[in-house]
Amino acid sequence: MPAPERIRLICSPTPLHRLNHLSEHLGIDLWIKRDDLTGFAGGGNKGRKIEFLIQEAISKGADAVVCQGAVQSNFVRQLGAACAMFGIECHAVVMELPYYAAAGKPEGKELVSGGNVVLDTLFGVKLHLVPDGDWDELDARTEDMVERLQAIGKKVYKVATGGSSALGAYSFVLAGQEIDASGARFDYVVTPSSSGSTHAGLAYQFLGSETHVIGINADPDPEDELAHNIVELCAEVDEMLGLTKGLSRRDIDLRMEFCGEAYGIPSAEGNRAIEVFARREGIILDPVYTGKAAAGLLELVARKELSGRVLFWHTGGLPTLFAH
Ligand SMILES: *Cc1c(COP(=O)(O)O)cnc(C)c1O
Repeated sequence: MPAPERIRLICSPTPLHRLNHLSEHLGIDLWIKRDDLTGFAGGGNKGRKIEFLIQEAISKGADAVVCQGAVQSNFVRQLGAACAMFGIECHAVVMELPYYAAAGKPEGKELVSGGNVVLDTLFGVKLHLVPDGDWDELDARTEDMVERLQAIGKKVYKVATGGSSALGAYSFVLAGQEIDASGARFDYVVTPSSSGSTHAGLAYQFLGSETHVIGINADPDPEDELAHNIVELCAEVDEMLGLTKGLSRRDIDLRMEFCGEAYGIPSAEGNRAIEVFARREGIILDPVYTGKAAAGLLELVARKELSGRVLFWHTGGLPTLFAH
């Protein structure tokens, strides 16, 4: 099976270093993987996926890319930059806060200006803001957009939410290999999880090793949809690589209790964790993903569920700090 191709956009391997002050404070050996410093279009985990997705869009001759998400999506920002570089129109169908139907519509909002929206505008993203609804409604709106563009002769490449396709997950198999190549070994990896391919790729890479991967869900997800999507993504990676790792639901450790009220709404625990990382280490987290994941990490340490050598995967998200 030939390895999937990519166009290099990010600075990788990203830095990996110890957090000395927090390690001492928490009584564990805490390290951090700096995917906030991927360097492309403001940084963040999505750059890894976009290296493969933009390659595929170009090889399919696309002149328009269609994606979807929340208005403050970090993915849209980074994808928009890649599209601009290669002369491809980037259309993003966005809601303020899409939600899982089973969890219900959240109270509260994300700002439709500031943060990532400033950068989307800079990169020339065509943002199509539609009224809030659940993920199925967003999927339907996005499909409408694809059809409208095709009707005027565009060659459209549609991208999965958050770049969570087999290619997106594969980019995080390679990210996991950066850890192995560095020679470092961890008992635990803690990562935020939302559209799932970050968690999927890392779980795939570390399956059967001494490293246990824990994902902290950023969305209330009463029907366990995300974990099932992650298992499905791992199956697609197997298929793409011609391998048979066969990850199952029990290989996916996804924690639901740290997401707060809703996706995109900051939580008190998350805000506290942001302050802890800022003041003890000078590390800036975000209110939508990494702050909540760090709150999970702190709580799991307090419960003694986490000990030994722990790696926190910093997935980025800085711009949303300026949108709340
Ligand atoms: C998208 C995103 C995540 C979640 O990654 P997924 O691969 O979508 O699960 C975490 N943190 C930040 C900052 C993100 O933008």
